[in-house]
Amino acid sequence: MSDDRWALGACVDRLLAFRKARDWEQFHRPKELAAALAIEAGELQEQFLWKPEETAQEVREDAARLGQIRDEVADVAIYALLLAHDLNIDLAGAIAKKIASNERRYPANSNRGVARKAGNRAEDSDPQP
Ligand SMILES: [Mg+2]
Repeated sequence: MSDDRWALGACVDRLLAFRKARDWEQFHRPKELAAALAIEAGELQEQFLWKPEETAQEVREDAARLGQIRDEVADVAIYALLLAHDLNIDLAGAIAKKIASNERRYPANSNRGVARKAGNRAEDSDPQP
C-alpha cells in the first residue's frame, strides 16, 4: 500500500477545513461523532445484509458494489478521524498500541486458524469462581 493512500494527516487537514468552512464544529460534539461513526458502520454492514456469502475477491469484482462499500468505509473513517482529532488521540499511536496488545493477547502459535475472541476459549477462562 502506497504512502499516499495512508496520508491521514492530509485527510484530517482537509476534513477540518471542510468542517470549518461550514461552521459545523458546533455540531461535532464527541457524542454526535461517535453516533455518526456507529451509524455509518451500520450503513457499511447494510451493504452485506441479505446478500449471499461472498469472498473479498467476489466483492472486488463488482465495481458498482465495491464503490458503495468504499463510500461507507470512508464515512466510518472520516468520523473516526474527526473524533480522534477532537479528543487529541494520536490515532496512529493508538492503532500501534492496539496491535501490540492484540499480538500479546493472540499469540500466533496458539491462535493460528482460530476464530474466537480471547476470553471465549477454555484456556482463557478465569479459574476464580
Ligand atoms: Mg454513509
